[in-house]
Amino acid sequence: QAAIKTTGKDPYPDWKAGTPVPYAALCATFSLIELTTKRLQITAYCSQFLQQVLRLTPNDLLPTVQLMLNKLAADYAGIELGIGESLIMKAIGESSGRSLPVIKEDHRKIGDLGLVAAKSKSKQGQMFKPKPLTIRGVHQGLLEIAKMEGHGSQDQKVRAINKIMASADVSPASKAVDITKDKGGPSEAKFIVRFLEGKLRLGLAEKTVIVALAQAVVTHEATQKGKAVSTDQLAKGEAALKTVYSELPSYEVIVPAMLEHGIFNLHDSCKLQPGVPLKPMLAKPTKSITEVLDRFEGKDFTCEYKYDGERAQIHYVAPEAQSEFPAAKENLVRDPKTFKGLASVFSRNSEDLSKKYPDILEKLNSWIKPETKSFVLDCEAVAWDPKAKKVLPFQQLMTRKRKDVKTSDITVKVCVFAFDFLFYNGEALVKKPLRERRELLHKAFQPVEGEFAFAYYGDTKDIEEIQTLLDESVKASCEGLMVKMLDTEESGYEPSKRSRNWLKVKKDYLSGVGDSIDLVVLGAYYGKGKRTNWYGAFLLAAYNPDTQNFETVCNIGTGFSEVLLEELYKELSDIVIERPKPFYSHSSVKNDQPDVWFEPKYVWEVKTADLTLSPRYRAAIDQMGGQKGISLRFPRFIQRRDDKKPEDATTVTAIAEMYRNQEVVNKENATKGGID
Ligand code: ATP
Repeated sequence: QAAIKTTGKDPYPDWKAGTPVPYAALCATFSLIELTTKRLQITAYCSQFLQQVLRLTPNDLLPTVQLMLNKLAADYAGIELGIGESLIMKAIGESSGRSLPVIKEDHRKIGDLGLVAAKSKSKQGQMFKPKPLTIRGVHQGLLEIAKMEGHGSQDQKVRAINKIMASADVSPASKAVDITKDKGGPSEAKFIVRFLEGKLRLGLAEKTVIVALAQAVVTHEATQKGKAVSTDQLAKGEAALKTVYSELPSYEVIVPAMLEHGIFNLHDSCKLQPGVPLKPMLAKPTKSITEVLDRFEGKDFTCEYKYDGERAQIHYVAPEAQSEFPAAKENLVRDPKTFKGLASVFSRNSEDLSKKYPDILEKLNSWIKPETKSFVLDCEAVAWDPKAKKVLPFQQLMTRKRKDVKTSDITVKVCVFAFDFLFYNGEALVKKPLRERRELLHKAFQPVEGEFAFAYYGDTKDIEEIQTLLDESVKASCEGLMVKMLDTEESGYEPSKRSRNWLKVKKDYLSGVGDSIDLVVLGAYYGKGKRTNWYGAFLLAAYNPDTQNFETVCNIGTGFSEVLLEELYKELSDIVIERPKPFYSHSSVKNDQPDVWFEPKYVWEVKTADLTLSPRYRAAIDQMGGQKGISLRFPRFIQRRDDKKPEDATTVTAIAEMYRNQEVVNKENATKGGID
């Protein structure tokens, strides 16, 4: 087990059993993690620290886990810091007594605001010594900042950040070391700034924290009983926590329950329930119907229409069932004027979309059969043309306001197409086969034209019938088919997983790489000729969830109308930053640099003819031998994906998978060519 390195003999004299955990202790762990890329080592550092917390201050376990995850609360709580680079620079300057131009100059030279903060603190003389930071205090302080809104909130935020920063790096354990020589050491200022920026940049993926947490709790529980821990127990603990988390992704519920009942009894107290949105199951792309048939050979499957709207997870509890579901009471909307019971609509990111879709909530009661008392429904909210009685394209839906929509102002109507059922009348359904879930779904609701429908499907294995279904789906303005395993154990609902048991077959799968790709806009180039007044091309990147970096994948200048370019210019001008973020991975060659860089905010859907290797880009470079990244050839802009966050962009692993599939096909074609 890795030892926690510190700078002094007793670096945390204040951390005694029952006292708040010093933030410096967490930063010391972070700084050890920063020096390695080995997953097992990172897990060991985390687990060891969490064991210390469990032993000395178990009440701080929840905020510790949250700070490790760079999260202040569960996604459905809607708490976001929303702090831009300029605000952070202002705060660093004010809290360290250095002027803004000096901070900007440092930023230009060092390129990492966290290190600029560490340097600024190390240069600051201290008239009086403030109390050292604690995990609890930092978490609370950041939470308060996130909640500040309205007039004057920017200044308020700067003042609040200053307050936290004033106490940073006063503990002997967090003395900032020479930042020109290493990564800045365990400086608290550095990690606070990185938290504010939304990226700790430690390669600390959520799955690692979950494994570390399980290991820590299993070890702690065994030690308390005076027993040694076996690898078998560790594995069981990990599996237990992972399953519980996939069905109830809320540390706020799980961590206290684990402390009270123990990790091996979690499944009794932490169950899937209305009020806590699940991460949705996702599908794998395919390039042909034969690929689908190969995959599902000998198994029963179903082909559903793939509706082109926004993923929506609807949670509902009838008035008489409310006492059974405490999380529903806390997290769902209650509006006796518009609907009976508690209900909310959640996005694919577990954001509460109830203010975007008040019309769904208003009509909900008319779709529910009287015997339906509680449910979690997986569906697609699709723009609907009531006159022509047909669905409208995704772009229409995106024109709806995201917040505070009044039903009387709605011009784009939606129809909900339900395709899966995860919870019904007190029981989780995720482990049941899809056929059973579907039967229950059809029993629990009644369709209402233009408001609520069951996803259309055909259960066939015949290639021609599938082709006909695909053609019909396109005629019905859908994107293609979702082909799903129907009966076997494999047909269970797998939350948060991109599963091979769900395959997407898009109408245009024959062209390009089988699926469109969702990428983050990192930079732009000024246009030429007619386009000189705005950006004419953009630098796009895929996401690497392991390193939490955005890895560049192409420049794009095709597929934009002049009107759109003008609009994008306005939108992107608000998020220009002075230099690339340290978590952008791009070629360092001078000629490859865009004219402007942006905060990572917008996701665009693009199509490509094929994928190729290029030294100019970095996508999946580690998986491709370290010299060249994967890049998109002839990329074409399709549409904005405002329903996705930068972290939902296509992953570099998915791009590597598409690249490898394409290479296999290319080789096969070459061989066939040789034989002919
Ligand atoms: P992904 O959701 O796979 O990340 P994406 O957001 O780009 O990718 P698509 O690849 O177009 O979306 O397709 C998957 C999405 O299709 C689902 O997330 C869901 O919102 C939608 N969808 C529409 N109809 C269905 C259906 N019958 N079953 C499952 N999902 C469906």
